[in-house]
Amino acid sequence: MTEVVLVTGGSRGIGAAVCRRLAKDGCAVVVNYAANRDAADALVAEMTSAGGIARAVQGDVQNEADVLKMFDVADSLGTLVGLVNNAGVVDQSQRLDEMSLERLTRMFSINVIGSFLCAREAVRRMSTRHGGKGGGIVNLGSAASKLGSPGQYVDYAAAKGAIDTMTVGLAKEVADEGIRVNAVRPGIIDTEIHASGGLPERVGDLAPTLPMKRAGTADEVANAIIWLLSEDASYTTGAILDVSGGRATLP
Ligand code: NAP
Repeated sequence: MTEVVLVTGGSRGIGAAVCRRLAKDGCAVVVNYAANRDAADALVAEMTSAGGIARAVQGDVQNEADVLKMFDVADSLGTLVGLVNNAGVVDQSQRLDEMSLERLTRMFSINVIGSFLCAREAVRRMSTRHGGKGGGIVNLGSAASKLGSPGQYVDYAAAKGAIDTMTVGLAKEVADEGIRVNAVRPGIIDTEIHASGGLPERVGDLAPTLPMKRAGTADEVANAIIWLLSEDASYTTGAILDVSGGRATLP
């Protein structure tokens, strides 16, 4: 049986690091991306030339038809055993009293509803209740859910708070159906997401203020995700793992 893992936003940053590890470990990987086809194609070429099985699938996680399409591709490759709900966006720094409805809708639609739609499709396939063989879901939260991100993106922080809550609730809902649901909550990680929010220097600027005096790498977050997906984490569900180098951990 070919085991398949779908990684939303798998083409760049943390998602790409996860895809590389999964392919190396012998999984077939569905690499979802939104717009940057070149990055997705380059990653898939890298993985397949190393002997892996991977497909790039364009799709916007907030669009139900796109989500169904990416899961169809997963089904065509083998048996779905994992979902990494990684696609996520930030926006320009703003106070809440400046935020438009359009911004808020996009923020919650991609970061929350997109993750819910993908989790729904994964449960429909992996749950023993639906005839599936079980599997794992890892959601990408953020240290922002605890910090609140004032003056920057309270909307993003709140959307990630919803991901924390969904992780706990869904984990309990499907715990006896063969599915484990966990989250990682990264701190400041060196990817392009900061530039997409208009702060390309954010990682360098914040590094001296962080407990380890450095940002994390995508690979360091991927290590935690891979562990949570693996059988080594067989009794871990509903967990939210801070991968933040000590930032925003509760006392
Ligand atoms: P990134 O480098 O900006 O990459 C984002 C990925 O998501 C890209 O593959 C992008 O596709 C895809 N994507 C964006 N919008 C999408 C949509 N609507 N539908 C499908 N795919 C979409 O991000 P990252 O830093 O790796 O972040 C990954 C996750 O970790 C996010 O959920 C983020 O909130 C979370 N996180 C990151 C940090 C950090 O410091 N980096 C900290 C805390 C949490 P395209 O290439 O097509 O644009």
